[in-house]
Amino acid sequence: MTDCLFCKMVTGAIKPDVVFEDANVLAFRDINPQAPVHILVIPKQHVATLNDLDNPALAGDLVLATLAIAKQEGLAEDGYRVNINCNKKGGQEVYHLHLHLLGGRQMTWPPG
Ligand code: 5GP
Ligand code: ZN
Repeated sequence: MTDCLFCKMVTGAIKPDVVFEDANVLAFRDINPQAPVHILVIPKQHVATLNDLDNPALAGDLVLATLAIAKQEGLAEDGYRVNINCNKKGGQEVYHLHLHLLGGRQMTWPPG
């Protein structure tokens, strides 16, 4: 989608701080980090929300990439959080599916 911010990161029109890339997945650092490590993991193909994810292989790719990045960032042993905001009440602001990988500090529960 030409008017989608995260699609522009996939095409290279906007260049984020990339930490991981493979055929189907791109991951980059969040511009407004909410933890010492805050990375967004996205499908390269445009999927607007979690509701629209219907490809089991892509779902697996996203989750496995996220845990590989958590290990790469040294978060695996201490722990980390993976979050997906879906639609308005889920707090989604960018309508291209993304997993938030958060770590490097103690997380609290319940989330806001
Ligand atoms: P959402 O609220 O949709 O789950 O999360 C959107 C995330 O995208 C936010 O954490 C926000 O900081 C991040 N974000 C928004 N614009 C940009 C940008 O231009 N570059 C990067 N790297 N992250 C962005
Ligand atoms: Zn998109």
